[in-house]
Amino acid sequence: MNIVIFGPPGSGKGTYASRLMKRLGIAHISTGDLVREEIRSQTLLGKKIEKYSSSGTLVPDDIITDILKKRLSSELSKGFILEGYPRTVGQAKELEKITTIDAVVNLNVPDSVIVERLSARLQCKNCGAIYNEKTMKPKTAGKCDKCGGELFRRVDDQPDVVRERLKVYRDGSEPVVEFYRSRNLLKDIRNEDPNVDPEKVVDQIMKAI
Ligand code: AMP
Repeated sequence: MNIVIFGPPGSGKGTYASRLMKRLGIAHISTGDLVREEIRSQTLLGKKIEKYSSSGTLVPDDIITDILKKRLSSELSKGFILEGYPRTVGQAKELEKITTIDAVVNLNVPDSVIVERLSARLQCKNCGAIYNEKTMKPKTAGKCDKCGGELFRRVDDQPDVVRERLKVYRDGSEPVVEFYRSRNLLKDIRNEDPNVDPEKVVDQIMKAI
């Protein structure tokens, strides 16, 4: 099954996608993680795209599509959960050329919940696992439960960058939502409770897809 998980930054895409990956036994691919990996390794590409990521603006469609294609090629026959792509109708059309999508999970979360979540979000430097200082604390402060890696706060989770990312999302998302709605692929999931148990939301998603 090929699934896209769509929603604003901080809507829980990464958290739900990694749990869906376990339940469905398919890969979880996050273009945000692929971008951060290029930047962390300081590849030529990483140096070129750093300015977009750190300011919360979008990496140009052709660059991000090339990054995705490279990673997606090994999963095309097995199925995947794609997070963070597409973010524009141009990207949605590119994805259509690469493969067929079976369902698009659309997470609907109010801005107030997002800002609260992102201000407390922590991520593992090593394996990318996500924690929350209030609702999903690691067992040992500052260390990843899964691999012992160091936890860090993303530079783009600062309030002013979050506001820019939300603006970019709101401006660009509606046409993508409509693109998939018109193809009857959209599965709307509503979540207004910042402290909801992630497994409950995953149950809801499993029913919808
Ligand atoms: P994310 O972790 O999904 O919020 O992505 C972090 C950053 O990576 C974004 O703010 C963009 O700069 C870049 N990025 C990730 N996915 C895309 C995409 N599909 N299109 C353009 N830029 C992207």
